[in-house]
This record gives sequence, structure tokens and C-alpha cells, in this order.
Amino acid sequence: MSETKYIFVTGGVASSLGKGIISSSIGKLLQARGFNITIQKFDPYINIDPGTLNPYEHGECYVTDDGQETDLDLGHYERFTGIQTTRNNNVTTGRIYQSVIEKERRGDYLGKTIQVIPHITDEIKRDMLYLGKKHHYDFVITEVGGTVGDIESLPFLEAIRQLKWDLGKNAVCVHLAYVPYLAAAKELKTKPTQHSVKELQSLGIQPDILVLRAEHELNAGLRKKVANFCNVAPDAVIQSLDEPTIYEVPVRMQQEKLDVVILQKLEMPVGETPGLGPWRSFLERRHKATEIINIGLVGKYDLQDAYKSILEALSQAGTYNDYKVKTHFVNSEKLNEENVACELESMDGVVICPGFGQRGIEGKLIAAKYCREQNKPTFGICLGMQMMVIEFGRNVLGYADANSIEMDSKTTNNVIDIMEDQKNITNMGGTMRLGGYECQLRENSKVRGIYGKETIRERHRHRYEFNNDYREEYERNGMECVGTNPDCDLVEIVEIPTLKWYIGTQFHPEYSSTVLHPHPLFLDFVKAAIENKNNR
Ligand code: GLN
Repeated sequence: MSETKYIFVTGGVASSLGKGIISSSIGKLLQARGFNITIQKFDPYINIDPGTLNPYEHGECYVTDDGQETDLDLGHYERFTGIQTTRNNNVTTGRIYQSVIEKERRGDYLGKTIQVIPHITDEIKRDMLYLGKKHHYDFVITEVGGTVGDIESLPFLEAIRQLKWDLGKNAVCVHLAYVPYLAAAKELKTKPTQHSVKELQSLGIQPDILVLRAEHELNAGLRKKVANFCNVAPDAVIQSLDEPTIYEVPVRMQQEKLDVVILQKLEMPVGETPGLGPWRSFLERRHKATEIINIGLVGKYDLQDAYKSILEALSQAGTYNDYKVKTHFVNSEKLNEENVACELESMDGVVICPGFGQRGIEGKLIAAKYCREQNKPTFGICLGMQMMVIEFGRNVLGYADANSIEMDSKTTNNVIDIMEDQKNITNMGGTMRLGGYECQLRENSKVRGIYGKETIRERHRHRYEFNNDYREEYERNGMECVGTNPDCDLVEIVEIPTLKWYIGTQFHPEYSSTVLHPHPLFLDFVKAAIENKNNR
């Protein structure tokens, strides 16, 4: 068996350059060459995981099938490669320290003074190598969050420095930097890149490959200049220009030979360039789709990253339906009885988004009511599904105070209740119902037809659930519980079968929609929205 190769991806100059997309693209290109790969992310913040972080701080919290709340970049890794990540694919400074401190308390360090070097860095190294050792991957791609020069990334970079030394020819470092264009001077400027490479070098890391993000073409002279100043071979200076969508990036990186350079640096045979057939067909179909459908996204965060996986799942489903999905953010805090028609009327379909807490829920309820009454294709996800249930309880069943215990602990009609095993939990981090659970679909229901099978598995992230005391009454009045957990009988999916498409899921289907395997619920929802548009 050949030895596992390690690719480290760092970033300089600015954040948001797209390290996650470049890491995912490297993964995709190596996978297309037949290699067995995984991608992991090391985040320098002190939270144990991003589960407790406000989406304004950190965007969406992505959830793995094995129930870990993780950074949203893991969503890109899965969407690009189709390979599931696990709790070991995302490690934070908090988790490293937690583990070191636990060991210290157990007495594992035999009286030593515990220090950042070597104890924290050893723990980071151990975690960076863990997946490669456990599963014998051909490649482990490790993305380090943050920007070179940040105080908190120092231990991670020191660990990479040591690993590059230990692993020798089995490791490469790809550094992502930015080349700004100064409009006034009409020039591309390489100085920020030079500085960020210097910063890396001062920490003992010589990058092997530079990926330069830029808005304008970098000519050969400029690449040569960067190569010269940064001790990197000219063919290892790769440009990455802005693309209309992130899905173009793997193809561009293949044209730029990023994968070839990586293989050469690792002294591996290069072989034939893979055709990326299915990926290219997806892109082609995407380019051809010009007609637009409008989907309203009712939520409280007016921030793209907060609903990243939903946006991606919708956009993929659009492509497979030969349409372009245009999403419109509808702020649920500003939605009321007076403006709801004006905001949602022109939408071909509406998604009621997940969320936590009181803020903006009245708007979500108003949206659910409007969409139900107008028979508009509507997809409620997690809190969105709970809102559909509450709205139905209030306006169809006549329980004026129907609510979730999360929003009103004293309601006499707790149609959404706290789950039994959540009642005594006081610690907020990592304690929700998390990850993949099975769900049984009712025969002849719409969802059974959509999935085309009886049992499915979907990822969860919630504390509250549909209250089974009300189940019969809901069913009798037209909202059916068509998906249930076979072990504990929790309601997973509700549906009003008399409407065109009115489905709420307690789970998050968006997490498992990938470029080559779009999620059936999103595909069907978008299809219903298109039909709705064309039959209006
Ligand atoms: N706040 C709700 C719960 O905990 C829904 C969570 C969500 O939308 N992810 O049950």
C-alpha cells in the first residue's frame, strides 16, 4: 500500500478568498484520477465547534451524518466530492485544548509543564494525521482556517512546519493569496502576496504552490515575478480568477494544471487527465438553463452564508430542472399581514427557513398561512416545518395559542414540544438531536413517490418536535404526518396532500444535496415551483 500524501492549504492577504472551494476542487480533481481522498478543516477559534455560533459570526452550521456540528466548508467538500465527512474532519483550537487539558487532568503528561509547543502542536499533528492513518487515504487535504499572520493560527502553522519536515516528499503546502488590481494605476499588485509568503517563510514554511486569486488575468511576466520573489517554480504559480459560480472552479483548476503540479511535487506519476464528464455535463446544463424561477427564502438572517446549503441545494435542483433559480431573501422580522401578499405573490415557490428563538417567527407564521391559503409550493425546513404545524394549529384547528415550547413555555397547546431526552439538558453545545436518523415514509404519500423508497436517512439539528398528542387531529383535518422515525415514532415530515406542494421536514435535506446527486425533495420542490409559474 502506498503512503498517504498530505496537502496543506493555507491562506494569506485576506479572508474569504475561497480556500474551501480550492480545497474542494483539489479533492475533486484527485478523486477524478481515481484516488481515495478526504478533506479536513482546522479552525483556529476557541469554540469547541461552531454549533453555538451565531450565523452572523460564522455563517451556516453544517452537520455531518455522524452528528457533528461543523464549519460550512465541510458542506463544500461534500457537495464537490460526494464523499461524506465525519466528526474528525473538523477540528477547532477549542477541541485541541479540551483534549490536552483532559489528558493533563488524567495525569497523562507525567508531571510535565504543558505548553503550546510541544503539547498543543503535538495534539494538532496527531489530529492532522488521524484520518490518513485510520482509513489509509491516498490523499488527506487539510485546510487551515483564518489568514497567515493571525495570532491564533500560529500553533497550526507550526504543526504544519513540523509535519512537512516529518513527512518529507509526502507533503505539499498550497498557499492561497490575493493579487489586487489598482484601478487608478491600472495595475495588478503582487506585493500583498509577497508579504504573505514572507510571513509564512518566517514561520518556517516554504509554500510549494501558490494559487493567486485575482479579478484580472495574470500574465506570464507577473507569474514569473511572483515565482522569483517567493521561491516557487513559475509553473507552480496558479491563477484563480473570479468565476460566475463556484462550480466552475474545478474545471478551471484542471486547465491551470493545479492537480498535475501537486502530483509532480509529490513525485507521483501524472497519468492521463480525467475528462470530468458528469461534472462538465452539469455545468453545460447549467449554462443552457436561462429561464428563471423565483424562490422566496423566508428567514431572519439577511446573510447569504447563513443559508448556504439551502441556496446550493436549490441552485443544483434548478440546473437539473433546466431552470435558473433566483432566490429572494424575505426578512421574516419585517413580514406582516399587510405586506405578505406584496412580498410573496411574485414568488413561484417559498422556503420557510430553519432557525432558533423567537425573533422573526411571527413573519414565518404569516408566510406559512399565506402560502397555504394561496396554494403556493412551500418547503418548510426544521423550524420552517414547525411553523407550518403551528400555523395549521392556530388557523385550521382553531387553537389560538398553538405554539412551540421553545417560543412560549406556558402555552396550553404545545403542538411543538421539547423532546423527552432534551428536557434535562442544560449544556447548549453539541446536545441537540444531531446527525442522520432513519425515517419511514407512508405508502401513497407524495414524499414516498418523490424519494421512490420506503426508508430514508436524513440529518437533524433540533431540540423540539411535533407533539404526538395532536397527531390524530392534524391528520383528520388534512395535515398528514407522512414521515416518522421507526424507533421513537417522532414525526419527521408533514404534508398537506390536497395542496400542490406543501411539505415540511423536521430534518435538513439541504445538507446532503450534492452537485452530482441533487436531493430529491429539492428537485421536486423546484419542479413544482416551475409548474406553478407556468400554470399561473
Ligand atoms: N429551534 C428549533 C428546534 O430546536 C428548530 C431548529 C432548526 O431549525 N434547526 O427544534
